[in-house]
Amino acid sequence: MVENKVNSKDLFNSIKVVLVGTTHPGNIGASARAMKNMGLLNLALVTPKEFPSDAATFRSKAAKDVLENAEVFDDLKDAVADCELVIGTSARDRKVPWPVLNPKESAEQVAKSALHHQIAIVFGREDRGLTNEELGLCNLHVHIPSDPEYSSLNISQAVQILTYEIRLCLLEQQKNQDNWDVELANNEQTERLIAHMDELMQEVEFYDIDNPRKLLLRVRRFFKRSRIDVMEANIFRGLFSTIQKKLK
Ligand code: SAH
Repeated sequence: MVENKVNSKDLFNSIKVVLVGTTHPGNIGASARAMKNMGLLNLALVTPKEFPSDAATFRSKAAKDVLENAEVFDDLKDAVADCELVIGTSARDRKVPWPVLNPKESAEQVAKSALHHQIAIVFGREDRGLTNEELGLCNLHVHIPSDPEYSSLNISQAVQILTYEIRLCLLEQQKNQDNWDVELANNEQTERLIAHMDELMQEVEFYDIDNPRKLLLRVRRFFKRSRIDVMEANIFRGLFSTIQKKLK
């Protein structure tokens, strides 16, 4: 079986839920509970009206640890500074043209990124959502396709829907990971493989060192895209070493 494989905790741990300007502390507690039910524990709060608060603690039930560990920020920019993928939620169509996904599509994007990147899912104020400026900080927008006549869900229910979809995708990804017989090569191992291939290409004068054009980039993209495992990396490196020995 695969040792050292990425476990669910790592995948789930790369995601944080960010609540911006929440007015009712009960909604913070209910959101924490919704998150923890789905295995997500990282909560960030941007200028909450009242926090910590008894109402939040009460509504969180057994997710008090999520509240205790919540980070509080003055600005959304700071809350998402360390994230490579930021997804903003919106209860209605905005004037800002941006890629808008549904919850399932956005969860797929999250699952794709969760292995290597930090991700934030951002929720807005109960009365007026996120500002255009805040939505502008996001890579993608997600809209739960609710009835246009009454499109705005309670924030904790929106948190529940998105975190549920994310959980489904992460569980699926984990299942695929578990089925794989060998551990995936980590970044350093892949980098060593690419460097080794470059060394060999230079030895056989495969390309003009003064003008490599996009060759190395394309080689790099190939190995990164294929997410090779440790054994595959070793096979290539063994082959490169054997050729190098024969050349000498
Ligand atoms: N009147 C506000 C509604 C905010 S509801 C507005 O028009 O934006 C509070 C938050 O819950 C939203 O900012 C969003 O984070 C989330 N939310 C509610 N309904 C949603 C929906 N249909 N799709 C996506 N997010 C939603």
